[in-house]
Amino acid sequence: MQICVIGCGYVGLVTAVCFAEMGNRVTCVDSNAERIALLKRGISPIFEPGIEALLHSNIASGRLTFGSTLAAAVKEAEIVFIAVGTPSAADGAADVTQILAVAQALPPHLSHPAIIVCKSTAPVGTACRVQSILDERSAGVQHRVVSNPEFLKEGDALNDFMRPDRIIIGTDDKGAQRVMHQLYEPFVRNHDRIMFMSRRAAEMTKYAANAFLATKISFMNEMAAFCDEFAVDVEQVRKGIGADQRIGHHFIYAGCGYGGSCFPKDIRAMLHMADGQGTRMPILEAVEARNQTQKEWLFRSLQSSLGQDLRGLTVAIWGLAFKPGTDDIRDAPSRVLIESLLAAGARIQAFDPIAADNIARCYAMAVDNGQLKLGEEPYAVLNNADALVLVTEWKQFRQPDFALMRSLMRRPLLLDGRNQYDPQMVERAGFAYQGVGRPAIRTQLAVLRRAG
Ligand code: NAD
Repeated sequence: MQICVIGCGYVGLVTAVCFAEMGNRVTCVDSNAERIALLKRGISPIFEPGIEALLHSNIASGRLTFGSTLAAAVKEAEIVFIAVGTPSAADGAADVTQILAVAQALPPHLSHPAIIVCKSTAPVGTACRVQSILDERSAGVQHRVVSNPEFLKEGDALNDFMRPDRIIIGTDDKGAQRVMHQLYEPFVRNHDRIMFMSRRAAEMTKYAANAFLATKISFMNEMAAFCDEFAVDVEQVRKGIGADQRIGHHFIYAGCGYGGSCFPKDIRAMLHMADGQGTRMPILEAVEARNQTQKEWLFRSLQSSLGQDLRGLTVAIWGLAFKPGTDDIRDAPSRVLIESLLAAGARIQAFDPIAADNIARCYAMAVDNGQLKLGEEPYAVLNNADALVLVTEWKQFRQPDFALMRSLMRRPLLLDGRNQYDPQMVERAGFAYQGVGRPAIRTQLAVLRRAG
């Protein structure tokens, strides 16, 4: 099939390379000329494991091309994917300006009937708005708009796209259903995971999925705080409840809060959608509030261990991306910590295997004045640190050399924002350990006081 993908970000690029990999001809377009220039040279502007190999092979085969003009990109397209951003507006609403701009720009270039697919996460009714715009501006040409929300996870996006749990296609149009089924059939060969529903139900399904996952995380974070009250280790509770098949082991890890480009903005968008309908979603309000509290937990814990005044102290951070496997720092918990530490006058020494450049761009002033240093390797950032905070659980942090860490740090405080470590083991290595919802061991405070 002849496909055009508009927007070469985390979703658009993965969509494009995966459809090209299945033998389709895909042309991608992005308003960011720098991105397109990189992509033409086979360089991915985003980090996603495995994407560059697929990029190279599909560019080489001639099935995948990149351009910056919509006119050329959609000229022969049977299917046009809109995969542009839907960031949070100031009032929390999903800002659909980029989608509507694409809808307005398309008609003059589409002289043949096409299927326009809204892949971006957008409020209920957005696909219908796109259909109205196209109907108004496409004299005599009937385009069909489909909602096909994306469920990939950054860090494992290619696998998710190639082996999806389900593919949601929102359209009542039988012809569009047939084409979309044919397009996705190679991805679901062992059994059909394609679900058809109305456009509005498809849009709602995407929000409901993210809201449910965010709820699981916030629930577990609340349980962690509750466990703290009773000196119970939430990790034992997690394993205990996860074994129940009705609950399961996924997404029930206590930690320093969820971030990324989806959950925070999508929850805010849902609350805004509810507001617009004159209704409320108290569960989601609580999910959002708990997550805010959770993101502040790391800084508060540092203050309770090191004292309220952190001026002049050095805090090492391991992990800056919102989760392992990505360079995405949108709404990352690390940013809440960094901003609090900068405001408190502390010095930061941080390491992330992939996301450091994005953080450097974001906090250029702090990097310039030396308050934020980004290290090339994890141990270098521990020099003379008064604490180490694990924020993102990259695999390389799982089994570190605790003796070396201890020898480098000024004070042996380890704040484990992802409950990665065995508290007893870390304590035996000479550290004071603090996890999320894990009872502090009394002697640890003495260790810290002696060292301080
Ligand atoms: P992104 O910011 O990484 O990419 C969006 C791209 O669209 C950018 O490259 C931007 O330059 C381009 N763009 C904007 N306006 C354009 C225009 N008029 N013409 C051409 N290109 C234009 O965003 P993303 O993370 O890929 O997310 C895209 C959508 O998918 C969002 O709605 C998001 O909520 C949803 N989503 C994201 C993920 C994820 O993990 N990132 C997962 C599922 C769904």
